Amino acid sequence: MESGGGDRFEMVIGLEVHAQLLTHSKMYCGCAARYADAAPNSHVCAVCAGLPGALPVMNRAAVEFCILTGLALGAEIPGFCKLDRKNYVYPDLPKGYQISQYDLPLCIGGALEFASEGAPKRAGITRVHIEEDTGRLVHRAGAPGDEVSLVDLNRSGVPLMEIVGEPDLRSPAEAADYLVALRQTLRYVGASTGNMEEGAFRCDANVSVRERGAPLGAKVEVKNMNSFRAVERALRFEEERQRAVLAEGGSIAQETRGWVEASGVTVSQRTKEQAHDYRYFPEPDLPPLTISAEMVAEIRDRLPELPGARRDRFASRYGLDAKEIETLTAEREVADVFEAVVGPDGTAEAARRAANWIVNDVMGLQRARGLPPEQLPINAAQLRDLLDAVAAGELSARAAKEVLPRIADGELPRAAAGRLNLLALDDEEVVRSAVTDALAASPSAVADFRAGKKAAMGRLIGETMKRTGGRAKPEQVRMLLEEALTES
Ligand SMILES: [Zn+2]
Repeated sequence: MESGGGDRFEMVIGLEVHAQLLTHSKMYCGCAARYADAAPNSHVCAVCAGLPGALPVMNRAAVEFCILTGLALGAEIPGFCKLDRKNYVYPDLPKGYQISQYDLPLCIGGALEFASEGAPKRAGITRVHIEEDTGRLVHRAGAPGDEVSLVDLNRSGVPLMEIVGEPDLRSPAEAADYLVALRQTLRYVGASTGNMEEGAFRCDANVSVRERGAPLGAKVEVKNMNSFRAVERALRFEEERQRAVLAEGGSIAQETRGWVEASGVTVSQRTKEQAHDYRYFPEPDLPPLTISAEMVAEIRDRLPELPGARRDRFASRYGLDAKEIETLTAEREVADVFEAVVGPDGTAEAARRAANWIVNDVMGLQRARGLPPEQLPINAAQLRDLLDAVAAGELSARAAKEVLPRIADGELPRAAAGRLNLLALDDEEVVRSAVTDALAASPSAVADFRAGKKAAMGRLIGETMKRTGGRAKPEQVRMLLEEALTES
């Protein structure tokens, strides 16, 4: 569905993202916030089980991560904010309410700058606030009447941050690019893993198609999208659905719709009439928060160089091309390895070489080993040793590529090359004897060379290299071959 020039309609999208914060403990109690592989209900106390009389205590690290994120997005951090109860009844919510923030959030305003289809974009941020996760229902099949639903409270009270975006996005592709950039920012500041498949980064979308320039239409909230691809597909479906309704002269109903991945459609879950009334009121068990200017300044000092700034610096400092820069800066840890290898005084040439190795060989090995995107298979010291050995002629480029996947954990590549007998051959007598053998075995190449076909030299170099197991230095081989061919 096109959305270009003569189109009567335009799409308006605003995204709400819930990101799990990387704290050790839960939002309002001391239970461990990370519970992967833990037995159900093994990370639960009176507070996160919602027992009457249990009192919540604010997690300082969660507040700091939220402020850090707000600062990364250029938000204002008001000196005063409060927590509110968001009331609703559901079996995975033992208290019958979530402690969230309503009218006075931690962070207000800001924007996310990102690139979409080659053009720079800027989407406003409405607010960023903290809240807590719910438990999880596990449904067990059984004979009719014997089905059971169990509740696991390990996730109950895990710290979340909600990032509410302005309705500034205009296409499904733009929404997907916004999400990728937002996730990258959260990972750079270390606030969240942003892992969508694990539920650490969840997105709801408010979508409305309207007549171009008309006021915002009724908004449809789309939920249940569990991957970047699902978001883009769900928004495309919703765009076409709403356009078709409008094109027939109909109107869009305000409702909540769920994305059904298997069938590729959104289905109505709740209409405006059935919408929750959360009856927000100030949380009586937690005092409001005062955020001092000193605290904000101290957190601002922890901000790393953000992805956009890093990309700009990589372009001006190293002169790398845009695609390479995007790959190198996608993860902060990879960009760090690149910079550590190049060093503070590295030349543009050294940077190009390091970039080339990381983007192609090292990341190829990373993929082959199924490592997470931030974890390269070798560290900066190892990669630097490998590149130095190649630059010094101790390792041929081919031998270096052969060594790379066989470097043991923590081993320096030169040591690995020695162990594997791949270091360049320095013994001139050995190379000379390989030259003699190669000449004897290749009479036709020798004849061709003597007849003036200079290309035959390549074949002779290849024959000699083969006889040294690829360990001779090609320049030395060429020199000795030329010497032998002019002598005899
Ligand atoms: Zn607890």
